[in-house]
Amino acid sequence: MSANIIDGRQLSHTLRQDYGQRVKRLASQGVTPGLAVLLVGQNPASQVYVKNKVLACKEIGMHSVLLEFEADMTQARLLQEIDRLNHDASIHGILVQLPLPPQIDPQSVIQAISPLKDVDGFNLESAGGLMCGTKSFWPCTPHGCLQMLDAIGFDLKGKHAVVVGRSNIVGKPMALMLLQRNATVTICHSQTADLKAQTLQADVLVAAVGIRHLIKADMVQPGAVVLDVGMNRDEQGKLCGDVDFAAVKEVASYITPVPGGVGPMTITMLLANTLEAAQTALSTLTDLSAQTVHAAHKPPTPRA
Ligand code: NDP
Repeated sequence: MSANIIDGRQLSHTLRQDYGQRVKRLASQGVTPGLAVLLVGQNPASQVYVKNKVLACKEIGMHSVLLEFEADMTQARLLQEIDRLNHDASIHGILVQLPLPPQIDPQSVIQAISPLKDVDGFNLESAGGLMCGTKSFWPCTPHGCLQMLDAIGFDLKGKHAVVVGRSNIVGKPMALMLLQRNATVTICHSQTADLKAQTLQADVLVAAVGIRHLIKADMVQPGAVVLDVGMNRDEQGKLCGDVDFAAVKEVASYITPVPGGVGPMTITMLLANTLEAAQTALSTLTDLSAQTVHAAHKPPTPRA
């Protein structure tokens, strides 16, 4: 029997409707959530990604600014811009589109973003929070994958999850999230001795590699849930994933398509993180004003 398709566009649409309501509620309390997207250079793929992010903000009534810079921009200038945004009260999330030109060190730039505004979840504070299970922003792509599992009501407890890929932005955080949900997790990578032996053990298989059709039908346990993060192009330039979708859907119980699967969920989780950042900013403001009122009503300290 053919697998059920987990439709990332549909799920995103449903979630974004809810987020739109949350934006309205926050705005009525005096805080309109705001996202700043920074793009350095004219990488065509990056230009499409940032436009989609800004459009998604507009769709739910969120404030957004797109800041575009020349490819020869210095690192010092970019850090200055981030510092300005860190102090801008109308901006709750800051995203620097990667990759950056060679003269700019991405890690220094990511670390310059305030942890309170790190809505991509890439800086060390966010990564540490995920690792230790404390509150932090989770990277959007694996967070979107987890939402998809929640959407189909999949209980990860005691299940075996296999993540193929160990990047800092997808594979590793995905593995940590699955672990937090009490799955037993295996992480595979380019040096894994027998990939098929590992993937065949998976109740949930996440492919985040960047190799078209790496995951074939005979590598998937019948009934497994398969999430395809990969974004590749075929000979005709058509977008496709890491999973041989047509064949694997005949084996899996659930599967995400490419396009229309994990991709839309990534942007949706960016909106979710920005909303969370704005909610925290509002709570801080409320706490501060309560403290001010409290201080104003405190009886004067008697003089000696
Ligand atoms: P990276 O290139 O950073 O990581 C790829 C990982 O795959 C590495 O850990 C690498 O292992 C592993 N790998 C490479 N070859 C093999 C192999 N033959 N067998 C097993 N593992 C292998 O990529 P990203 O994590 O950034 O992205 C992965 C894919 O997801 C890409 O196609 C990317 O475009 C896509 N993507 C999609 C997003 C979305 O929104 N849908 C968002 C982000 C990424 P090693 O560490 O040993 O080199």
